[in-house]
Amino acid sequence: MSVVGFIGLGNMGGPMAANLSKAGHEIKGFDVSAAAIEAAGKAGIACSASAVAVADEADAVITMLPSGQHVRDVYLGADGLIASARPGTLFIDSSTIDVETARQVGAAASEAGMEFLDAPVSGGVGGAAAGTLTFMAGGTAESFERAKPLLEKMGGKIVHCGDAGAGQAAKICNNMILGISMIGVCEAFALAEKLGLSHQSLFDVASTSSGQCWSLNSYCPVPGPVPNSPANRDYQPGFATALMLKDLKLSQAASQAAGASTPMGGLAAQLYSLHAGNGQAGTDFSSIIKLLRGTAS
Ligand code: NAD
Repeated sequence: MSVVGFIGLGNMGGPMAANLSKAGHEIKGFDVSAAAIEAAGKAGIACSASAVAVADEADAVITMLPSGQHVRDVYLGADGLIASARPGTLFIDSSTIDVETARQVGAAASEAGMEFLDAPVSGGVGGAAAGTLTFMAGGTAESFERAKPLLEKMGGKIVHCGDAGAGQAAKICNNMILGISMIGVCEAFALAEKLGLSHQSLFDVASTSSGQCWSLNSYCPVPGPVPNSPANRDYQPGFATALMLKDLKLSQAASQAAGASTPMGGLAAQLYSLHAGNGQAGTDFSSIIKLLRGTAS
């Protein structure tokens, strides 16, 4: 099995790297956090001294970093991966970042004779641990085919969405649907409460009628109807409000740059921002029902 580099061993990257290791790949890891390196060590992942040292030893390198700025630093910095790695290296960036950065890094990699795939994920920390993530990839067909066997060790569904940046575009469009649909479902429950309609009755009707959607059927924002949704554990994430807000800001920035009209996405970003500011940044995004109950009264 090939040597795979893994840069960014946090909540997502740690378990993803562990799954590659379990599948028989030799992993060379790197993170700027001592705690992340220690946790990776416990999962049997050896770490190198720098990102460049990782690329020196690996044929393929995966990055799982917090934001576009981190991705630019690691890839495009003076001592970054593109300036230092061997031609032919395959890079896969699974961070959720802006489309423009993904395209810039893809172009820089291609100019240097390297391959780059943006491959953000859906499925959260649970999916990362279980190896059931959905990957949405952007890049050439050749890069995708080369990356696929690795992605399959960490994910259940792998979709090639188009050229560089297309993976990030799919990710932010999907999460804009999710952010908006969750607010719609929460508003319906808040209204039902005022009208004396029970949570279970609304769920039984809407989950099998035209109101059905993932936010209702699989991730119901009130306790009871869907026993494993975060509402049943006081909104422990799950998917934190801060991460939803990050993704909605990315979709609004992309929308503005592309001249698209996404007014509901804009409104959703404002509501999650308000909710995060009320001390809810770390709770699950479905806890936005608390904000809506407040404003509805
Ligand atoms: P995290 O903060 O837990 O992990 C990021 C890691 O990157 C940290 O360990 C940090 O120390 C490391 N890092 C930062 N700068 C670095 C550098 N220059 N070199 C090496 N390592 C560096 O974040 P996470 O929850 O693992 O999320 C990672 C990405 O995945 C984000 O872009 C996030 O939006 C996306 N994502 C997260 C989830 C989720 O549920 N957590 C779901 C889908 C997508």
